[in-house]
Amino acid sequence: MPFINRIPFKNRTFFFAIFLFWLSANLLTVSASPAPRQKPKSVPASAKGNVPAPRDVIGFTPGDDRKLASWAQFVDYFKALDKASDRLMFEELGKTTMGRPFVVATISSPANLAKLDRYKEIQRKLADPRTIGSNDAEAEKLIAEGRTIVLITCGIHSTEVGANLVSMNIAYKLASDDSQDTRDILDRCIILLVPSLNPDGVDIVKNWYDKTLGTPAEGTSPPELYHHYTGHDNNRDWYAFTQVETQLTVDKLHNVWHPQIVHDIHQQGETGTRFFIPPYVEPWEPNVPPLIQAGVNFMGTAMAWDMLSEGKAGVVINGVYDAWTPARAYQHYHAGIRILSETASARLATPTTVEFEKQTPQVNVDTKKRSWNYPVVWKGGEWKLADIVEYQRSGAFALMRNAARYRERWLKDFYLIGKDAVRERKAGEPFAFLIPHPVSNFNSTSWGMEGFARLVSILERGGVEIKRATSEFEVEGKQYRADTAIVTMSQPYGAFAKTLLERQQYPDLRQYPGGPPMRPYDVTAHTLPLLMGLNAIQINKPFSLPKTDVLRYAGLSRVVRVTDKPFTSGRLAMYKSHSASMDEGWTRWIFDQYKIKSASLLDAEIRAGNLRDKFDSIVFPDQNARAIFSGLPENRYPKEFSGGIGKEGVEALKKFVEDGGTIITFNDASEFAIEHLGVPVKNVLAGVAARDFYCPGSILKIKFDASSELTRNAPTLESTSDESIAWFETSPAFEVTGNDTKVIARYADAKELLLSGWLLGAEKIAGKGAIVEARRGKGRVVMFAFRPQYRGQSVATFPFLFNAIMTSGK
Ligand SMILES: [Zn+2]
Repeated sequence: MPFINRIPFKNRTFFFAIFLFWLSANLLTVSASPAPRQKPKSVPASAKGNVPAPRDVIGFTPGDDRKLASWAQFVDYFKALDKASDRLMFEELGKTTMGRPFVVATISSPANLAKLDRYKEIQRKLADPRTIGSNDAEAEKLIAEGRTIVLITCGIHSTEVGANLVSMNIAYKLASDDSQDTRDILDRCIILLVPSLNPDGVDIVKNWYDKTLGTPAEGTSPPELYHHYTGHDNNRDWYAFTQVETQLTVDKLHNVWHPQIVHDIHQQGETGTRFFIPPYVEPWEPNVPPLIQAGVNFMGTAMAWDMLSEGKAGVVINGVYDAWTPARAYQHYHAGIRILSETASARLATPTTVEFEKQTPQVNVDTKKRSWNYPVVWKGGEWKLADIVEYQRSGAFALMRNAARYRERWLKDFYLIGKDAVRERKAGEPFAFLIPHPVSNFNSTSWGMEGFARLVSILERGGVEIKRATSEFEVEGKQYRADTAIVTMSQPYGAFAKTLLERQQYPDLRQYPGGPPMRPYDVTAHTLPLLMGLNAIQINKPFSLPKTDVLRYAGLSRVVRVTDKPFTSGRLAMYKSHSASMDEGWTRWIFDQYKIKSASLLDAEIRAGNLRDKFDSIVFPDQNARAIFSGLPENRYPKEFSGGIGKEGVEALKKFVEDGGTIITFNDASEFAIEHLGVPVKNVLAGVAARDFYCPGSILKIKFDASSELTRNAPTLESTSDESIAWFETSPAFEVTGNDTKVIARYADAKELLLSGWLLGAEKIAGKGAIVEARRGKGRVVMFAFRPQYRGQSVATFPFLFNAIMTSGK
C-alpha cells in the first residue's frame, strides 16, 4: 500500500505540507548546484515506492532457491536503479575478456554525488601528502571535508554465486532505505559497488547450472574455467595485472578513488564456519603498514560484533586466511584495508544440509566448539542461498556503518600512512632499489628486455615512480650505467615496490612446535626481478641521485622486444581437461600474448588417436596424473564431460611420441608422464612427508646445460652463464633411471637453492633434475618439474618452454 494511505486521514494535510516543503528544499538544492549528473530523473529523490526491488526487474529475489541471474539481468537491474534513484550512478568501465560490460555503481547521498570530483581531489591529496607539503593543518581541513571511500567487490569467483547476487540486495537497500543508519552511510561514505569482478563467469556458471538443474550434475562446478584464462586464479593477479578485469579495477577504481576500505565478498566450502572475516591469521607480509593491520583488525572485529547482535551464528574471526601475498591485496600497499569475507556455500543455488557432526575444523577454529574468535557455534542443518546472501548483506552493512561512524578516523589513518611513506629515509633503512638495464648489463637477451618492460609496466600501474639514470653513477663503490632504473622508497607506494623487488623470507610456521609446516593460504614468493630474469640491488643508505628522468613503460616500446618476432611453433596443441586446470588457462594466455597458435585438445580427441598426423607437440599443463587419466566423475557429470584420457588416450600418446612427436609436461603433469608414458625417471619426492620436505610456492635456483637447444636465450642470474630460476610449488624433482634421457637443468646445491620464499629439506632435491628430456622412438618427452610459465609472470623461464615448442617436429 502506498505510504500516504497508511497515515491517518487527519494527519495527511500536515504530511502533505511537509512534503511540499521538502520538495521545494530539494529542488532549490538541486538548482543551486551545477548539474553534475547528465541524466533525466523521473523522481526528485529516493522514495521506496519508486525504487524497483530486484524482483521487479529480474523476476525473483536474489537468494531464492535454484535461481541465478544472467549478467544481462544484473546490468538491467543496475540500470533500472540508476534511472529511479538519485543515490546511485551506474557506469560501464570497459569490456571484459569475453566482451561483456565491466561495471560499477557509485552510491552516496545526492549531495555527495554532485561533488564527486571534489572528493576525488581530496583523496588524491591525502594519498600523496607531498601535494600539501605534508602540512597537517591542511590535511585536517581535507579530512574534515572528505568522505570514506568504500569499494565493495563482489563475486570474483563465479561459483560463489551468492557473492554476486548480494550486490543487488545491497544496492536496493542503499537506494531505498530511509533509516538513520543508511542515511549516515550515504552522507558520510561514497560506496563503489562492483557487482562482479568477473562478469563472464556469471554467465558460464548460470548456463551450466540451468542446463543441469534436476540432473545428477545439479550444483556442480562447470566443466570449464569460469574465467577464460585464469579461473580461480583471477584473484591472484593483484600485482601482476595480467588480466583485463584486474586492469580496469586498478586503473579506474583503485587508482582514481584510493579507497580506504575494500570489502571483497567471497564464499568458502560448505562444511566449515558460516562466515569468516579478519583479523587474518599469521603471517602478514612485512611491508604492510601497521595502521593497515590495526585497521583490518578493528573493522573485522567490529563487523563480527554487529553480526552477532543481529543473531548470526557461526561467525569466525582470526581463522583460516593469512595476509601474506600481495597477489590478493593491492590495497594493503595503497593505504586501504582489505576486508575479505567468506560465507559457507550451498551447491550453487541448490540448498545443502550440513549436520552438526559433519562440520569440519579450519585453521585456528574448531567449528564445533565455542572459542574467543568463534563465540557462537552454528547448530548445523539446512543452508541455502538465502542464508548466504543474508550473511553477506549483514556483513556489508556492518562494514559500511563502521566506515560512516569512523569517517574521520579512516581518513586520518589514510593520510598518516601516506605521510610515513613519503618521509625521508635514514641510514640503515631501505633507500632505493637499482635495476640495471638488461641490455647494458649482465648476460643480456631480448627476454631480459621483455622482463624489464613488464616489471616497469607493473610498477607504473601500481603508482610507483621510477627514475632512469641519464648518466653513469656510483653507489657503494659500484659503477652503474646510464639507463639503470632507480626506485626510491620515499614515495607513496614505495612499500608496493619494495615487496615486489626484494626477496621474501617466509617465516617457518609449524602446526605445533616441532610439528609439520603450516600451509600458507597462497604461495610464499613474489620477487619480480627473479621471475622476470632481472637483477635488483637494494641500497640501505641514502645516496645522492645521479641525473635522472622519468622511466615509463611507453618509453620502452622502442626497444626490440621479443613479442615483435613471430614464433615458429609448428603444429602445437595443449591438453584441455574438463576437470579444468588453471595452469592450462595461464598457458593459453601466454600463447595468446605471443600470438602462438595452439589447438585445445580434449579427452575424446586424444582417445581417438592419430595425433602425429595433426600435431608436432602437445603440452600438458600442471594437473595431477589421476585427473588427467580419470577426469570428472561419471556418476555426477554428463558423459560428454566425464572420464579422462584413459587407457586408449595413454596408448595414443605413446604412439605420438614413437612417431616423432614431442610431449611437454609441467609440474604434476610430469608425474603422468612418469606413471603412464614409461619415461625412465623417478620423482624423488614421491611419498616424502611435508615435515621432511616442503616448498609451497617459492623461487629456487637451477643450473642448466647451456649447450642444449632447450636453454637458448634464457636470461641468467647475475654474473653467471648457466643459472636461472624455477617456480617450485609442491612440485616433483627428477632422478633419471634409464637410457636416452638427459637432465637439462638441475636444482642448485642445498645452501644456495632457495632464492625467495620458504623451503624445508633443501638437501632432498639439491642436484636433482628440474628439466629432463627423454628420447622415445623418433620423438621425446620434455618434462618440467616446475611451472615454466607461472601465472604469466616467470618470464625468466619462458624461453625453456618456447624452445621446447620451437624445436619440435624437426
Ligand atoms: Zn573466492
